[in-house]
Amino acid sequence: MNIADKYEAVIGLEVHAQLQTNSKLFCGDSIAFGAAPNTHVSPITLGHPGTLPKTNKKAIEYAIKMGLACNCEIEKDNYFARKNYFYPDLPKGYQISQHTTPICKGGFVTITINGTEKNIQLNRIHLEEDAGKSIHDIYDDYTCIDLNRAGTPLIEIVTEPCLQSSEEAYQYVGELRRLVRWLNICDGNMEEGSLRCDANVSIRLKGEKKLGVKVEVKNLNSIRNIKKAIDVEIERMIHLAENGGIITQQTRSFDATNDTTFSILDKEEANDYRYFADPDLAPFHLTAPFIQKIQTSLPALPQQLSKKYQNELGLSEYDASQLCDEKSTSDYFQSTIQFTNNYKAVANWILGPIRNYLNEANASFETIALLPETLADLIKLIEDGKVNFSVASSKILPVLMKENKSPITIAQELNILQVSDTNELENWVNQAIASMPEKVNEYKKGKKGLIGLFVGEVKKLSKGKADPKIVTTLLEQKLNQS
Ligand code: ADP
Ligand code: MG
Repeated sequence: MNIADKYEAVIGLEVHAQLQTNSKLFCGDSIAFGAAPNTHVSPITLGHPGTLPKTNKKAIEYAIKMGLACNCEIEKDNYFARKNYFYPDLPKGYQISQHTTPICKGGFVTITINGTEKNIQLNRIHLEEDAGKSIHDIYDDYTCIDLNRAGTPLIEIVTEPCLQSSEEAYQYVGELRRLVRWLNICDGNMEEGSLRCDANVSIRLKGEKKLGVKVEVKNLNSIRNIKKAIDVEIERMIHLAENGGIITQQTRSFDATNDTTFSILDKEEANDYRYFADPDLAPFHLTAPFIQKIQTSLPALPQQLSKKYQNELGLSEYDASQLCDEKSTSDYFQSTIQFTNNYKAVANWILGPIRNYLNEANASFETIALLPETLADLIKLIEDGKVNFSVASSKILPVLMKENKSPITIAQELNILQVSDTNELENWVNQAIASMPEKVNEYKKGKKGLIGLFVGEVKKLSKGKADPKIVTTLLEQKLNQS
């Protein structure tokens, strides 16, 4: 038996997402990323005596949005607690967090593993403030502190220990990132630390009910690294278990330069954070109408939309899931199908030439001139045989991206309207036949596949304007004569 088959992995993930509010969780300081160090730090962020924090209502709203999108129960009676510990990047000496009453309880996030859906159970989503940042790599002999980030609103999304593989973790964090972006509550940028993940990993013998000793791996700044770190951790633990070693409860860090983890802290006993309700912040009660209003404001979620595109519009699973990768793409698709029933053509345009253009020009659906109704017009032009797809995408689309013009006008101006006038086509067809007498002979002897060569020649002569269907018929008529 394969050793890896003897064990099973158990994984629980803690994901922090920075909420895209304008200001911090308890004061008016900006949360903008990239400002000069220590410029967004008022006395409230620093916890100076005599200052009073005030809760940012937008952050509460964002946390509830995420909770509702993840099928959580929303806690109506909330308070903030102080989590006391000392660390240089924590100016107040405590972090304001939630303790026994997280704002969102339970819930789940659905992922698809090998074509099968699985619900990843959540334990909770709670609100808390971020710490500042210690910067170790500027000077050799001391550490710098930037407190701009201190007080930024975070939600922490905590799963039950219910994931079974690194692939599930990969899919789950990908889905979380899509959701926070979809809801427009966090930019999901893992490199800049707006979305951060700690992975708790343990192993146990298959069939065993009790959980094994867990290790928490920190510093995972990409989804790929989450997967890698979990894999190396499982391997390390199995190796230990097989070789008489003891797995100890540790906090480990992932080194992406060589795909290894190393211990940063041995946890001998549980931390005592001496939680207590923050006396400076009033408990907050959420009313049912307030929660209901947020529920009503939620956009349709990507997984629902993807199913709808498949079941109601007949798109493939691939097209539907690609369209639902980002909300702006799905929104644009939905706007366009108000003007045409050719859903598949709209999907092809958006996922093909338009997406390529956006990537190359570093543009977005918001910045291009192409309106959904104009895209529908362009699709109609092809359906009517006035232009072909390749000319439309290579010649008309680039103009439409910059100017709001009608596609037919552009086609006329560029002189690329497809010619279906038989007299004109016949000229090109005759020229093509006259230019390749040997091929004509071969064709007549039975090499019918050569028809493509003649069609290609007519295409060249007409500069792409000849309607290929009519050309093919004309060519066949002429070549099969006498
Ligand atoms: P801590 O107090 O160390 O933060 P929690 O019980 O709050 O631990 O759990 C933190 C995360 O670790 C959760 O996502 C949970 O699902 C996960 N977890 C807890 N025990 C285990 C275990 N034995 N193996 C894997 N993950 C675990
Ligand atoms: Mg923890």
